Amino acid sequence: MLEATPPDPLIPPDAEPFAAARRLFAKLRERLAAGNSSLAELTELIATELDIAVCSIYVARPGEMLELAATHGLRIGAVGRTRLRVGEGIVGLAAARGELMNLPDAQNHPEFAYRPETGEDRYAAMLAVPIRRAGRILGVIAVQNVEPRQYEGFEVETISTIAMLLGEILSAQGAGNIAPTGLGDSLSRRYAGHPLAGGIVRGRALPFGRSTGPRHVLADDPAVETDRLERAMAEAEQSLDALMADHLPKGHATREVLEAYRLISQGTGWLERVRTAIGDGLTAEAAVDQVGSELRRRMRKIADPYLRERLADVEDMIERMLSALGAGTAKPDDASGMILIVRRLGPAELLDWHRRGIAGVAIEEASSGGHAAILARALEIPALAVEAGATEAAQAGDTVLLDADSGALILRPDPEVTNLYDRALAARSERAAELSAFRDRPAETQDGTRLTLMLNVGLAFELDQLARTGAEGIGLYRTEIAALAAARVPGVAAQAADYRRVIERAGGQRVVFRTLDLGADKMLPGEAEDGVENPAMGWRSLRVGLDRPVILRKQLRALLMGAAGHRLSVMFPMVATVAEFRAARDLLEAEAAKLDERPTDIEIGTMLEVPALLFQLPGLLAEADFISLGTNDLMQFLFAADRGTPRLANRYDILSAPVLELIEGLAAACAEEEVGFSICGEAAGRPLDALVFAAIGVDTLSMSGTSILPVKAMLAATDLAMMRPVLRELRRAGAAGTSLREPLTGWAREHGLPI
Ligand code: PEP
Ligand code: MG
Repeated sequence: MLEATPPDPLIPPDAEPFAAARRLFAKLRERLAAGNSSLAELTELIATELDIAVCSIYVARPGEMLELAATHGLRIGAVGRTRLRVGEGIVGLAAARGELMNLPDAQNHPEFAYRPETGEDRYAAMLAVPIRRAGRILGVIAVQNVEPRQYEGFEVETISTIAMLLGEILSAQGAGNIAPTGLGDSLSRRYAGHPLAGGIVRGRALPFGRSTGPRHVLADDPAVETDRLERAMAEAEQSLDALMADHLPKGHATREVLEAYRLISQGTGWLERVRTAIGDGLTAEAAVDQVGSELRRRMRKIADPYLRERLADVEDMIERMLSALGAGTAKPDDASGMILIVRRLGPAELLDWHRRGIAGVAIEEASSGGHAAILARALEIPALAVEAGATEAAQAGDTVLLDADSGALILRPDPEVTNLYDRALAARSERAAELSAFRDRPAETQDGTRLTLMLNVGLAFELDQLARTGAEGIGLYRTEIAALAAARVPGVAAQAADYRRVIERAGGQRVVFRTLDLGADKMLPGEAEDGVENPAMGWRSLRVGLDRPVILRKQLRALLMGAAGHRLSVMFPMVATVAEFRAARDLLEAEAAKLDERPTDIEIGTMLEVPALLFQLPGLLAEADFISLGTNDLMQFLFAADRGTPRLANRYDILSAPVLELIEGLAAACAEEEVGFSICGEAAGRPLDALVFAAIGVDTLSMSGTSILPVKAMLAATDLAMMRPVLRELRRAGAAGTSLREPLTGWAREHGLPI
């Protein structure tokens, strides 16, 4: 399952011959070279060659109007008379949105605007494509047919290419233009978002659209264009090398992410499509642009986040190639203090913007596991996945507040909001300065209980956080993250090298490697199983590892090889029975027996995420060296409450009497049998929760890098001996399972704790 190759969304299922399109382009080239073709003749040529009933060209006129300028198929008397406002009718909508509309039954679309003078009531199918030039919309080309049907891929591509060509023609004729909707707005606007890399910044907006489109569309000689394409590819490659060499210090682990991106962007078959389009008579830049547009259309329909991110990488490459072909949009050399607002962004582009000094970035289509997000976190650029529309609504130079902590982008904020944020920023930097003092102090409560705080990480470069936070090792190394970033499970040698690097960077501190925990929300491209109702409880994680042991064995070998000469800690995820733990441990021991060079010491533990394991404790404690409680999964299985359903997010609380009783009992049982015990879910990183865990006998917590210092500060401020009786009383009162969070927060506030 894990090695399946995903279907390539860029390769159409049946490669169309494009013969009609090629013929049409050849004729268009002839007519344009002769220099005497009218728009009316062009509409006739297009309709005839493509066997389409109606082809019309609408041209932008002052006052946000579109006027029918030429048609083949509609009543000729409508030319110069039929006018639509931008946003009115299908044609107006295509112009307003700047997006093509492909409708099988346009007449029944709620926005359809009937104009009797055109005689268009016979036509059901309609494709309307905006005509752009340098980011401006100059008109719309629309084709129509009687039979209801969706226009096919090659027809959409051909009409889109003709729209590019019309962009050249209309701009040469000095056509007016329509600003996309939203521009000209001066009111404050707030866009919600999902934080990708934390931080709050204030700066100037830098909305950045895609390239303005090629200047020349049709070419005389495909061989010349192919040659230009190859050179542009080499140049795009070199510029990436140069970026990496100049801006990522040697050994900087984000290089791995960029390398993964490079493999992905070269491997999807889109170049083949570009070459075919050049063969059809397009210039290299028009061919790249056409494939890019098709890619964007397909991206919008793809639900799988990893596939979408993979496509974002390809789009990044396309933008770089358009630049190399002289068709890119100029970027400011100095973007310092600016907040980049874009629809999509790949890692190479982000690195390029980082070099130019951006202070933050908002991306409309991004996911937190995507390459751009991973890189943003590594480079510490505040980044937000923002809701759609922000790029369009932002104007260059607007004041912008990017709140990548609570998830908001505010364009043109009102003075009160700006003041509020300025105060928050000042308080933040004060707090950061206070917290940094805890880096070199041990994690200890006021009354001397010492805890071990460790890190949860997923990529080698995140180990920088060890030094930054003073954490004492890695309590959870999620090995699946690197596989997700690279969209595949790396081979044994590559994994072993990775693990060795991690161990070396940890400089002797303990690193707990968790074996691949793939499935449910962590799916490799192409792996999604149709019809599985509860993927979190499905065939995932260790279950796959045990049933198809090739991948697990390879990973265990890689871990043993990577840790040769060092201590190795391995932890298995999603264990539900002692028998499963034993089977996994046996695989590890069998692999170890085959190797000459071994780790100096091997400790083998398990995540405790499945409640059934709680009822097999004697057997488990006899066999496991350590147990780490995964609160994220344990809570969802314990309360039958999906961890990804926002409505359930606060319904059941870990700070409730039954769960605390469970944890306290587990910690005591582990201590009795001298089995290591830790908590590594998100709860461990919340200061109040961490404090409560410490109070009930947990001495090791593993959390994300940003939580270490706040948790240390909380521990240092608290006298556990004073807290315990309060907690005991609250637990007794909350025996019905209600949350203790509110009264505990009240108590913490009363005692001036840094909550
Ligand atoms: C957990 O379930 O608590 C855990 C740490 O694992 P993950 O979040 O990776 O599922
Ligand atoms: Mg888990």
